[in-house]
Amino acid sequence: MLAHNVDFNLTRVCLECLFASSIYRIAVGSDGVRISMESALTARDRVGVQDFVLLENHTSEAAFIENLRKRFKENLIYTYIGSVLVSVNPYKDLEIYTKNHMERYRGVNFYEVSPHVYAVSDNSYRSMRTEHKDQCILISGESGAGKTEASKKILQYYAVTCPASDQVETVKDRLLQSNPVLEAFGNAKTLRNDNSSRFGKYMDIQFDFKGAPVGGHILNYLLEKSRVVHQNHGERNFHIFYQLIEGGEEDLLRRLGLERNPQQYQYLVKGNCPKVSSINDRSDWKVVRKALSVIGFSEDEVEELLNIIASVLHLGNIQYGGEDSGNAYITTDTQIKYLARLLGVDGLVLKEALTHKTIIAKGEELKSPLNLEQASSARDALSKAVYGRTFTWLVNKINVSLTYKNASVIGLLDIYGFEVFQHNSFEQFCINYCNEKLQQLFIELTLKSEQDEYEAEGITWEPVQYFNNKIICDLVEEKFKGIISILDEECLRPGDASDITFLEKLENTVGGHAHLTTHKLADGKTRKVMGREEFRLLHYAGEVNYNVNGFLDKNNDLLFRNLKEVMCMSDNKILTQCFDRAELKDSKRPETAATQFKTSLAKLMEILMSKEPSYVRCIKPNDAKQAGRFDDVLIRHQVKYLGLMENLRVRRAGFAYRRHYETFLQRYKSLCPETWPSWQGKLADGVSTLVKHLGYKPEEYKLGRSKIFIRFPKTLFATEDALETR
Ligand code: ADP
Ligand code: MG
Repeated sequence: MLAHNVDFNLTRVCLECLFASSIYRIAVGSDGVRISMESALTARDRVGVQDFVLLENHTSEAAFIENLRKRFKENLIYTYIGSVLVSVNPYKDLEIYTKNHMERYRGVNFYEVSPHVYAVSDNSYRSMRTEHKDQCILISGESGAGKTEASKKILQYYAVTCPASDQVETVKDRLLQSNPVLEAFGNAKTLRNDNSSRFGKYMDIQFDFKGAPVGGHILNYLLEKSRVVHQNHGERNFHIFYQLIEGGEEDLLRRLGLERNPQQYQYLVKGNCPKVSSINDRSDWKVVRKALSVIGFSEDEVEELLNIIASVLHLGNIQYGGEDSGNAYITTDTQIKYLARLLGVDGLVLKEALTHKTIIAKGEELKSPLNLEQASSARDALSKAVYGRTFTWLVNKINVSLTYKNASVIGLLDIYGFEVFQHNSFEQFCINYCNEKLQQLFIELTLKSEQDEYEAEGITWEPVQYFNNKIICDLVEEKFKGIISILDEECLRPGDASDITFLEKLENTVGGHAHLTTHKLADGKTRKVMGREEFRLLHYAGEVNYNVNGFLDKNNDLLFRNLKEVMCMSDNKILTQCFDRAELKDSKRPETAATQFKTSLAKLMEILMSKEPSYVRCIKPNDAKQAGRFDDVLIRHQVKYLGLMENLRVRRAGFAYRRHYETFLQRYKSLCPETWPSWQGKLADGVSTLVKHLGYKPEEYKLGRSKIFIRFPKTLFATEDALETR
């Protein structure tokens, strides 16, 4: 096995193998190749165990973290909890994603090779092929933990290892190239991650009957549109703006009326961070331009797309004059001129629309002037709407280029993790709600699949008690009494509805809920530690205080009618698809942002439930984005809220190990004279004879229909050690 698997371009390679539980070290030096082997025990001491169920002290969080640390120090970033993959971001390039590595995992049993995201990829692929069941891989973790990188590695694995043909090559290219495009428009530099995805993504990869990738489909969730008009200190707007400005050709920029200096643009200066050392906007621009062509964007479409991007920058530079309380007027005519040309709209109409609002009341159109603050927010609302809808258009366009029906599917979910900031707003509320839903799914599916297996194998077991976070999901999403319902109600209520009245309504309706608190206490006193504008949710992952400021506006996500009208008049073909005239005729209020999100999440849950899940749980080792730093406090927090200890407990409550009779017998038959060199009878009888000979006690194992279940890892360790010292 060794000789085939060695990467000789590496000076040192560690090969780890669970069954052998030994570490082979290969050193290639001037004096030739040296291979040494550590004993199972010392190896385990140094690099930890590759499956947490093997931990002696499995209820100890400290032991769990110690095991992660040991492995991290040895650049072993992957560890299993049963079939769940735990991954710690190394923040450096490891030589573990080569073609050779991919080959090593192809068609190989999960437990026979060291843990890797390729093993998860391969396992899902094989299950899809052999069991004809659609799969999904759920990747979770906080911002910067490595979710997007993991999803890219999985996609690359399929692109390289799956069967190919000319038609398939095109699809593979498009699948791969959709990443740089979506990242350009949907990712940004944040304090936590230089390439942070600001939208959630679920991608189906479709395979034909030969197992070749033949199509795909992407669903996008809740793009953080507010970033278009505002960035916190040290953060940037979406990458595409900087790529265009830094990388765009001279004549392109001239045509778009842009200067090669991000500092010129109001929408790009808020975070005071135009350049990021880890990002090369100029070369990224080239990559994105090429990717757009590969995906099948025509030159005209690219031009119209860039017109929109440039327009957003021009919109941001529109300035208003006027007194605070008086009517606003536009003082920057150059921007209007560019906007009129780039968007193909009438400049005067646009100008009017940016300083007035029209509403329909009792069938009549009423127009009124805006003051300074209202005009600025109308302008920003337009920028957000234009950018947000263009992003959705982009996703649809990619989908059209990938579409294929009637296929087996592997879905990849790369969605924002639980977020707790100093200041948490509507966005964090939605994101954390999404994580509650995913946690619920995780609990249900891991427990359920565990239980199903015992049932299928005819094994009895005691179900494990666990915290069911359904109560929190209900608190957020229930009809009438849920937080979203209450928020929507305030958004619809005419008159004096405000963020504060929303908070009061929360207090009155769900104030007594075990998972919600506000500054008001039941006895009428106030809670000092909480602000008057806050409510606190006790999430499964911990407490989060949300500031209600802006909740109503963000949930309403309103764009004045006349601005919509202008966009509907645009010559830009993308915008005409984004702004539909039918929307103007429809007198019904559009769904609120939270309700739309709730609906799309419910659909996502349905999709995921219909598939067989695998999990990748990503952990971020430190806040400094540095290699080699393992921050205990930060990691302990993630272990807690990812529910890893609970996960391990569930896994261990049953049986730590399960092996098909054949695999088990094959490996250990030499330890018993009756099974060596081969066993002639029924496999189950062979295994039974073997374990009795080894002295397994009845409480240590159970024999199912096709597998042996071993309760404690030490039993298996002892057998492993027997194999070594034989
Ligand atoms: P997330 O999507 O969870 O927010 P990313 O996947 O974008 O996080 O990862 C953040 C950064 O961490 C990446 O840009 C990369 O520099 C580094 N990183 C993540 N995973 C790996 C990995 N497996 N190997 C090397 N670097 C990684
Ligand atoms: Mg990401």
